[in-house]
Amino acid sequence: MTSVEEVLSSNLYTQQVKKLYKIGDILGLHEDELQALSTPERVLQVKIQILSKDGKIRTFTGWRSQHNSALGPYKGGVRYHPNVTQDEVIALSMIMTWKNSLLQLPYGGGKAGIRVDPKTLSKQELEMLSRNFIDALYKYIGSEIDVPAPDVNTDSQIMAWFLDEYNKISGKIDLGAFTGKPVELGGIAVREYSTGLGLTHTAKIAAEKFLGGIEGKTVIIQGFGNLGSYAAKFFTELGAKVVGISDSKGGVLDYNGIDVDKALEIKAKTGSVIDYPDGKKVSNDELLISDCDILVPAALENVITKYNAPKIKAKLIVEGANGPLTADADEILKEKQIPVVPDILANSGGVVGSYVEWANNKMGEIIEDEEARKLILSRMERAFDEMYKKYNKLGDQDLRTSAMVVAVERVIKAMKSRGLI
Ligand code: GLU
Repeated sequence: MTSVEEVLSSNLYTQQVKKLYKIGDILGLHEDELQALSTPERVLQVKIQILSKDGKIRTFTGWRSQHNSALGPYKGGVRYHPNVTQDEVIALSMIMTWKNSLLQLPYGGGKAGIRVDPKTLSKQELEMLSRNFIDALYKYIGSEIDVPAPDVNTDSQIMAWFLDEYNKISGKIDLGAFTGKPVELGGIAVREYSTGLGLTHTAKIAAEKFLGGIEGKTVIIQGFGNLGSYAAKFFTELGAKVVGISDSKGGVLDYNGIDVDKALEIKAKTGSVIDYPDGKKVSNDELLISDCDILVPAALENVITKYNAPKIKAKLIVEGANGPLTADADEILKEKQIPVVPDILANSGGVVGSYVEWANNKMGEIIEDEEARKLILSRMERAFDEMYKKYNKLGDQDLRTSAMVVAVERVIKAMKSRGLI
């Protein structure tokens, strides 16, 4: 991959627009409508400065993209990553619009990113960065405006700093302005693992439809963050066999089955799953094309492309990350008849969990864990059914296209009633 065109074509925003135009063809949308759907309503770029421990001022750039609010307040996570770009954040906010619509949540789509490697910051520096980010953006945030949540490299501690800073600077005590908070600040315990729970539940339904069941099926998971690690645990509980895991340093394959608790312990101790003592060490590239029934790319975007898609051996792909497959890869996998459960459904347990938290904050209620779990899973089952009905109706389209048609149709309806399209 060397030419400029190829680098540009791997851009996540380009990928998402391509996927949207495909939906446009199916729904017979006009170019003006596609422009209205793909253009973010507002993109905020902010400069964030911190005083580092060596006395130097360090400067970072952050963005919040508010893609579409036809269905409600903007909703989506905040990621801290050294390679984040504005385009990427816009693309991710567009994915959130479709995800929230597919799940019938009263939200539009948003996403934020700070271009930083959080591993290089001390806890104090991380807190300062998080608080200063909110200082720059608080006017555009609130439970009825825009509701951030965790994403790559952010967690409940960061949400607690966000909330506290927001309260201080805005003078508003608005618990529902952020989700994914610690339980003592209006969070719900289930939110911590709801993405992994929802993903494995969706994988189970898909495995029943396409593989004859989940029991005994081999699973490879790329990425061992919040989603990957909880998914590994839940897959094992469902009777599937996790045979491959990885993180940014590389992966490990063990067809005798990976002991997930042991992998978690090792990751906590040494910082990486590559120190897992059994099986075979592999690169992330090798892991993706290794033998398995179910492949879960749960790290970052654009990891399955036209280059490695032809070599995929999995029989079912369940997207954990947002945008892990390029539009070209979609076409290749469709030809190979490998079903792909799309990100906007498969990883939506996170935002559905957020919705339960937000609704509780608004009502001033505290939901029981069991009830929250049920609510999340039934909402995802309903979305799966809707996608699957559309899939059968469309006949020759893949699951992503079917899910996106459902999601885009709903956003268009809302925009039409508002007179925006
Ligand atoms: N970051 C998660 C996602 O991509 C969750 C967003 C949220 O809870 O608002 O869906």
